[in-house]
This record gives sequence, structure tokens and C-alpha cells, in this order.
Amino acid sequence: MLSRQMSRAHVHTNCRVVGVGSRASGTAISALGFDLDGTVYLGSELLPGAADLISALADAGVPYLFVTNNSSKTGEQYVANLLRLGLPASRSSVLTSNDVAIAHLHRSGVRRPFLVATPAVRQEFRDHGFEPVEDQPDAVLITFDTTLDYAKLSRATGYIRAGLPYFATNPDLTCPTPQGPVPDCGSFAALFAAATGVQPVVLGKPEALMAEALQARLGVQADGIAFVGDRLYTDVRMARENGFQAVLTLTGEARREDLVASQYAPDLVFDDLRGLHAHLERLGTLPSSARG
Ligand SMILES: [Mg+2]
Repeated sequence: MLSRQMSRAHVHTNCRVVGVGSRASGTAISALGFDLDGTVYLGSELLPGAADLISALADAGVPYLFVTNNSSKTGEQYVANLLRLGLPASRSSVLTSNDVAIAHLHRSGVRRPFLVATPAVRQEFRDHGFEPVEDQPDAVLITFDTTLDYAKLSRATGYIRAGLPYFATNPDLTCPTPQGPVPDCGSFAALFAAATGVQPVVLGKPEALMAEALQARLGVQADGIAFVGDRLYTDVRMARENGFQAVLTLTGEARREDLVASQYAPDLVFDDLRGLHAHLERLGTLPSSARG
């Protein structure tokens, strides 16, 4: 496995791009999706190259979408945060796992969910026609609830044990922060699995529902989309399983040495978004600049 991967790899040492997936590194890119935590920013700090790259995409009219599994905030909160960081963003350029959950729960006929969610996210569900309830819910949805407490844990456990439809916005075990990883929705699901023996239906990356929503928003063919992220088991996996080009940045969770053992091989690997920016200029997706 290792030797096959290595034999496919092509390395451009001058620009630190390493293709280890199935595609040639010169494959055209016409639209991009970006993970946020660990890819575009970490905490309240933009990662190297993020501001220049996103501005260049906006200026050139290249479609892009911010795609996050982090369900602790609403779409509007993400837009406000991105604008505060100086990135061009609007509600239509942000796709969250809560957006996918809202659409999927509507399609599933859910009206009165028990939500393990922050107050702002509860309100976002109300704004989309749901009536979140404490008693007699018709489903359970768990999110990256940074206000999680024992009352919610015990109530949700009872409803899951009772066999209600059970959904999770995302499978991430941890969320990167400047202070290190903190437990995310996937860890909550692991707790509920220990307590009930039941696993949720997962909605965010790497699931196809997220990929379909992403492609619908970008409006181009899958193979023209580069999906950029820092995590192998969500970002790279979703890209590979849904026909996108998988771009890994080494600014978050994954380390270069993790590639050897990973079953999800990215098509392109960059130290940070500056490398992707230079690659898009070489491809002609972005006009060449005089950047050093
Ligand atoms: Mg990430």
C-alpha cells in the first residue's frame, strides 16, 4: 500500500506541492470549497495566505464556498465572523452542517426535535420552521453544543434509548482551537453510543448529503471542484468519495507523516493556503501576480 502510494506521488520541491491521490497535479480547478477551522483560520486568527487567496478568488469571480462541520454557530454567525476577519463572505458563501441538518430533518418529516445545541443554533432551527421541544420530541439531533450539560445528556440518552430517529450534524471527534483540540459532536455521539448502543445518522462531512449541498451551491461539475481541508477523515474523505479534487493543508489536524497510514489520499498537499494560491496561478484559475 505504501509503495503504491509512493510510486504515484509526484513532488515539486520548489513549490512544496505533493500529489499523492489519483489525479495529476495539473487538473483544472473551476470552483473551491474551504473547510474553516484549521484551514482558513484557527481561533480568531487567519491562517497564512487565507486573506490573499479568498480576496483573489472573489476578485476573479471564481466560485468559492466556506464549508464547515462546526455546528456550534449559526450560518449568520459565521458570516459575521468571516467579515470581521476581513474575508469577503455572505450567507450564500457559507454552508454549515446545520444547514444540511435543517434540510434533511425537513425532508424526514421531523417537526419537534430534541436539540443538543447552543441557544443561537436552537433559534436558527426555529427560524427554519422547527419547534424544538424538551418533552415528546419526534427526533433527536446532536450538534457541537458548547453549552452541553448533564440534563441534556440524560434527556437525549432517554430519547435515543427509546428509539427516536437520531441524527448528528458531524462526526468530528475534536475541534481544533489555539489551546488544543476540544471535544466535538463525534465525541458526544461516542458517549451516547456507550450509554445506549445506538449510532446516529451523520449529516456533515464526509457524508454525501454535505457534498451534494456543496456542489449544488457551487453549480459546477464535481471534478472541477477542489475541496480544501485540514482533516483526512472528513475533508479529504468527502472529496475523494464524491468526485472532488482533494486538497490537504497542513495547518490544522493532519501532519505530513499521517499520509502514510491514511486510507484517504489527497490529490494535493500544501503547507498552507499560500501554496494553493501559487498552484491556482500556475493552473490559470487565478491571474498571475507578482507575489514573491
Ligand atoms: Mg478543519
